Amino acid sequence: MTMRGTCLCGGVRFEVTQPFERVAACHCESCKKLSGGGGTVSGRVRTEAIRLVAGADLVKSFQPEEGSAKTFCSECGSNLFGAGWPASEYTSVRLSALEEPYEGRIESHTFVRSLAPWETLPDDGAERFEIRGS
Ligand SMILES: [Zn+2]
Ligand SMILES: [Zn+2]
Repeated sequence: MTMRGTCLCGGVRFEVTQPFERVAACHCESCKKLSGGGGTVSGRVRTEAIRLVAGADLVKSFQPEEGSAKTFCSECGSNLFGAGWPASEYTSVRLSALEEPYEGRIESHTFVRSLAPWETLPDDGAERFEIRGS
């Protein structure tokens, strides 16, 4: 199985060659800032399963004071990876970057303490964590 991903401008293309180990929605302040919405939804996969196909020169990572590096396209700003790619053992792949809609379910909501007043958590049965998930 291979999942394909791209940024908004199409300059960055990547492939994920293993299934996600779990999928989580993060509602933390950082994910709100970088996503332009309620947060990020990411699939966790071993970093070695990610292959950049195009646009390596466009890919940039930002290391916040707290937490792991976030990776984005420097041309269009699309958020692509979290969790410290490419140095980390595991990477969070933003589902928003996938070309085909991901068919799986969200298994957990993390940092629900940072839920915005305008956000509503869906009644999806997913586990909820005040901060980081397990
Ligand atoms: Zn782009
Ligand atoms: Zn987050």
